[in-house]
Amino acid sequence: MNELFCLIVGGGLSGLVLANLLADKNILLIEQDEQLGGVASYMNFAASNTSFQAFANIKDDKFYEDLISYSPNYSDFSMLKVLSDNSSHAIELLQSFGVEFELGIKSSFNHQIPRELSPLKDAKQSVINPLINRLISKNVNILTKAKLLDFKDNTASILYKDKILKIKLKNIAFCTGGFANDKDFIKIHYPLAFYAKTLSKNNANSLKIMLKNNAIPTQLSLMRFAFILPMEIFKYGILINSDFVRFVSEDKQRQELAIAILNEFKQGKKVKLLLDNHGINYINNISNFKKYYSLKDIDKRLIDTVNDYNLGITNKIDNFGKNLNNIAIKKIKESLFYLCDVDVYLNYTLGGVKSNTNAQIIDINTNKAIDNIFVIGEASAMFGEARLSGAASTACVVFAMNAARYMLK
Ligand SMILES: Cc1cc2nc3c(=O)[nH]c(=O)nc-3n(C[C@H](O)[C@H](O)[C@H](O)COP(=O)(O)OP(=O)(O)OC[C@H]3O[C@@H](n4cnc5c(N)ncnc54)[C@H](O)[C@@H]3O)c2cc1C
Repeated sequence: MNELFCLIVGGGLSGLVLANLLADKNILLIEQDEQLGGVASYMNFAASNTSFQAFANIKDDKFYEDLISYSPNYSDFSMLKVLSDNSSHAIELLQSFGVEFELGIKSSFNHQIPRELSPLKDAKQSVINPLINRLISKNVNILTKAKLLDFKDNTASILYKDKILKIKLKNIAFCTGGFANDKDFIKIHYPLAFYAKTLSKNNANSLKIMLKNNAIPTQLSLMRFAFILPMEIFKYGILINSDFVRFVSEDKQRQELAIAILNEFKQGKKVKLLLDNHGINYINNISNFKKYYSLKDIDKRLIDTVNDYNLGITNKIDNFGKNLNNIAIKKIKESLFYLCDVDVYLNYTLGGVKSNTNAQIIDINTNKAIDNIFVIGEASAMFGEARLSGAASTACVVFAMNAARYMLK
């Protein structure tokens, strides 16, 4: 193979968008998995001043403000500004590649203005498949089950079918995702996160290749935890550990709540959510809950815990500081009782390597951009201690656009 214009490593959202942008060049997209698509299980896109907002007559000059106010610490404000300014172009670009969105805009927590777009059917059918189909129609070179092992002197070493291919290239783009499934690596940076589950398959191998190429590691110890259950319902019941005692106020913010639960896991305990016949009304899908006729049927130790909690409601003082002014928060007393395991997930790692607005990696020795090494998507790091929902997907597209523009200049 002649010198490649660009090797794109990783076939998730960012790699697929970049490959589409560079489809007319001599490029190769490699993906270590059998399938392209990356973590795309659920994918909303936050974007301001889109045609969708215009259609709904929504004016939006608050995206940047929301991005930085949600993550005032450690985030890269210049990257976030570029993200907000280019978000509507990102949506237009995706649509031009065949991606389809629902017409309705989601109004999400922490966004002052409704701006989140959802895939028309689901992420695979409406986002990932159109991007893959366009690459196939343009005969772009794609290798699956091909893993980048190393990159040195503008030469990539790729493991493919038990052989190591050495490929000379002009540009390389790391679209390699996060490291949420790398327990050993996470244990070093944030030991408590070791106890979180993950839906991601990604490890830190590619991050280590970038570091060997002088990238600057950033925010590797910041973790963004998530729940599968809608956490807004926790406050209508109580969280209990394997000893059937409460240990936290159920209305805490996501991160605080996750940390309290992980601390229980660390002590070898499980955590469950208990709701009664009133609390269960706040959740749509109850398939993961087990039903009980009485608290005694669960465990008699639970009776004291619930009595204590109910006394707090009578006196309007909760032992863990829960806000009891909300009249929807009631005593737990109405049979049936419902119990469900609560797990904490780490699906998105906030850390990665430092890059500039062209998505070029910054050299740790010179503090200047390395001309031909790019990092896009979750592998980069711009969000600091927390990221606004829907912003990660849009960032994959915006910085793929900027990287392609720079490479083609
Ligand atoms: C359950 C879940 C829900 C989410 N929902 C949202 C949401 O609603 N909105 C939002 O903004 N964000 C969301 N996110 C985050 C968002 O999906 C990710 O930020 C985005 O998909 C990341 O895309 P990516 O291309 O950067 O990485 P990925 O999708 O992780 O793709 C990286 C790819 O690179 C491959 N790879 C890694 N190393 C190598 C190597 N050495 N050689 C070859 N291939 C390699 C991996 O196998 C992987 O396929 C969600 C994440 C999860 C897990």
